[in-house]
Amino acid sequence: MTGRTHDLAAFTALVLVATALPSLPSMSYATLILAFGANFVGGLFPDIDQKTSDFWDNFRLGPFVAKVVCPFLGGHRNVSHSLVGLVLIGSLAHFSLQLLVKLVNLEIDPSVVWWAFMIGVVSHIIMDLPTKAGVPFLWPMDWKFGIPPFRALRMESGKFVEKWVVFPGLLALTAWTLFSHYQSVLTFFKQGLH
Ligand SMILES: [Zn+2]
Repeated sequence: MTGRTHDLAAFTALVLVATALPSLPSMSYATLILAFGANFVGGLFPDIDQKTSDFWDNFRLGPFVAKVVCPFLGGHRNVSHSLVGLVLIGSLAHFSLQLLVKLVNLEIDPSVVWWAFMIGVVSHIIMDLPTKAGVPFLWPMDWKFGIPPFRALRMESGKFVEKWVVFPGLLALTAWTLFSHYQSVLTFFKQGLH
């Protein structure tokens, strides 16, 4: 999938999880903004192993750092798209957030930001499942998972199906979910933020 689809999918996943909760925790504006940012980064994060990924384009020195970092991660769709990777990424995010909360003088709820980030990361791996390359979920085992299981039936990244079915489908799902929960979304924005 392209970075654009991954970003939308991360937001869709965030909306789906948030609206499925019995009630959203009350949070500061700083937490909400950081959670959206973390969700956006999380949606691209597993592609840190790909030099050409949109993830690296978000930073000024990104393409340069990517050239140094990527070979260590074993090439595209490796550890960062696996169960082991999820645990590593989750721990790294946890420690980074603890550090951030200590360093900045803002009221931030690190657990909300962490969940938003991880929802983005998991959505990325799910979205890579229907693509031809598949996902090495059980890395270091070399077995690539995909939906459907037959590679020939899966889609090509960035091509017709992604552009005209997946992307609009995600947009419609997000809009529909927000619309069908608009009362609780509205209440959250009116009363849940401080
Ligand atoms: Zn990926």
